[in-house]
Amino acid sequence: MTRGAALAAAVTATVALSFPFGFLRAAVAVVMFAAILTFGVRFMRSIVHAPPPEPEVADVGDYGLRYVCSMCGLELKIEKAARDRAPTHCMEPMVLVREGGRPPLRPV
Ligand SMILES: [Zn+2]
Repeated sequence: MTRGAALAAAVTATVALSFPFGFLRAAVAVVMFAAILTFGVRFMRSIVHAPPPEPEVADVGDYGLRYVCSMCGLELKIEKAARDRAPTHCMEPMVLVREGGRPPLRPV
């Protein structure tokens, strides 16, 4: 919608609403509608166009990190990690079992 068409629509809405509600209340309502609509559209556009931040992935394959699920016995060897939280399996956090490898420089 062009700026002129938006202004014409705002004037029309103000005139139409001023009969039942009075000019001042109609004008305030139209201005509030336009402000909230503009803010909402900009906010939604910023959400859609902003890409999610890239996780900082570290290669930890040499550390020999192994996690075991205490419920079903599944064992995972961690090659890359982006956070220092244990993975979960069977709705439970997995238990860290470090075998061989060199210890990590920072907790992973
Ligand atoms: Zn499991």
